[in-house]
Amino acid sequence: MTSRPGPITRFAPAPTGLLHLGHLANAIYVWGFARRLGGRVLLRIEDHDRQRCRPEYETALLGDLDRLGLAAAEPTTTELRAGPSTYRQSDNGPVYEEALDQLSGAAPVYACDCSRTTFAAWREAHGRRWSGPGCPGGCLGRGLVPRRDLTLRVVLGDGDEPWDDVVLGPRSSAVAPDGDLPVRDRNGNWTYAFCVVADDIRHGVDLVVRGEDLVDATPAQIRLGRLLGRATAPRFAHHPLIRRPDGSKLSKAVGATAIGELLDAGRSRERLFGDAALGVGLVESARPISFEEALGLVG
Ligand SMILES: [Zn+2]
Repeated sequence: MTSRPGPITRFAPAPTGLLHLGHLANAIYVWGFARRLGGRVLLRIEDHDRQRCRPEYETALLGDLDRLGLAAAEPTTTELRAGPSTYRQSDNGPVYEEALDQLSGAAPVYACDCSRTTFAAWREAHGRRWSGPGCPGGCLGRGLVPRRDLTLRVVLGDGDEPWDDVVLGPRSSAVAPDGDLPVRDRNGNWTYAFCVVADDIRHGVDLVVRGEDLVDATPAQIRLGRLLGRATAPRFAHHPLIRRPDGSKLSKAVGATAIGELLDAGRSRERLFGDAALGVGLVESARPISFEEALGLVG
């Protein structure tokens, strides 16, 4: 009897800054769920945003992963340092062009010249933020010729998409709460949603473990995956985030949260894993814990 292979998940940092405790908490959940479900972890560099990403941040994050002892099933950090990789978004432009062709055959994709000003003007006129359908300028019907400095949007359709979240349980929400989904922005960057859905399909990822700030983005990604030919949506596990005292998300390494600087200052890996686990409520008090022990806390 052949046993069913376990899920494939991914640790997918964006090199827009330094690795911080929030990434470490995500790593505990990613590797933790992979272990619990008998799966394996891919490492993916999500550098689709060419204005915000920096090679030096990728260098730093690969170094931090090595120092922390966090190793994916593939690729190795050495392979990523060696040159182009299927696991680095900026090396795979043709993949996204091909995915766009496929998407265009499955749903209307159109150029949109709405700017932040367009959205702000709509908000000013209506007293609430834009919520669709389409875009505030009605660009679907305008037949604009696509250019690199215009947003490309896809019509995902309406309705809700349900999913059974590994952490949150059954969920369902609107596919397009903010109107039609951008697949490429006005700076010529493929969007986060488009890249991760296309990547998860080509990399065989069937378990997505990520922070709960992305819950509302999930229905659109499920629908987008279907339009890109995905027969079965991945499973999703949305975990708690480390919050600042004011409740905001820890989204940048500022002050004393950059992993590399903490290691340089003599903080042990075990203390960092303990701090990350404490930040998301996996433990109740600060104490050093090994990565192995941290993985056992997930479940
Ligand atoms: Zn528009």
